Amino acid sequence: MSFSLTMGVYMKIAIDGPASSGKSTIAKLLSKKLKFEYIDTGALYRAITYIINKENIDLQDEYKISNIINSSIFRFDKNKLYMNDICIETEIRKNIISKKVSEVAAQPYIRILINKVIRNTSDNSENIIIDGRDIGTVVLPDANFKIYLDASPKIRAKRRYIELIEKNEPVILEKLEEEIIERDYYDSNRAVDPLKIADDAIIIVTDDMNIGQVVNKIYDLVNNDL
Ligand code: C5P
Repeated sequence: MSFSLTMGVYMKIAIDGPASSGKSTIAKLLSKKLKFEYIDTGALYRAITYIINKENIDLQDEYKISNIINSSIFRFDKNKLYMNDICIETEIRKNIISKKVSEVAAQPYIRILINKVIRNTSDNSENIIIDGRDIGTVVLPDANFKIYLDASPKIRAKRRYIELIEKNEPVILEKLEEEIIERDYYDSNRAVDPLKIADDAIIIVTDDMNIGQVVNKIYDLVNNDL
């Protein structure tokens, strides 16, 4: 099937994959290159985790957490997440949030509310890239392209290690690899919308690829179809 952006046929790209597989970095660069909008759904789950953690809210307090989500305004500006006009990008990327986010994201009521936030944002967009865990399977089952990015836990831990060290976060490489494997397990085995490869996804294993090569590979796939 062919798509003509000038003729008003719009394109949706879903990018899924395990923790630290480079989804956000690649989706950001790709969205710039293609001039598409971009939603980082992991950032939204991280935002809720950050608030729950900061305000010490019981995860079972569905009433309070639902109220917070429903009464908040989320927006991305230059790929940084703002919640009620406050940029929380630095806070949500901290390792303490990475360690807790899977448990939060496994709560069915939170997933329903976050999916509503995603839909409200994506419905206003023409061409869009969304990344996460359940984008090709649940959020955008009709996406024109479904990409599943993967890499070995060792490589992913190494990439994440470099990222955190650059931000002056004290981390131990081996511990990080354990945490990544644990998060993948949790995300893949939860009851609702687990991390799963969509039947029609294109799998890209990035162990031996750099960021530019992955971006170009997806760009070429999409561009050939435009
Ligand atoms: O992509 P990122 O690592 O920032 O995602 C953080 C966490 O948010 C994941 O480990 C997962 O638990 C959750 N998540 C999810 N569904 C999505 C995106 C993220 O459950 N669509």
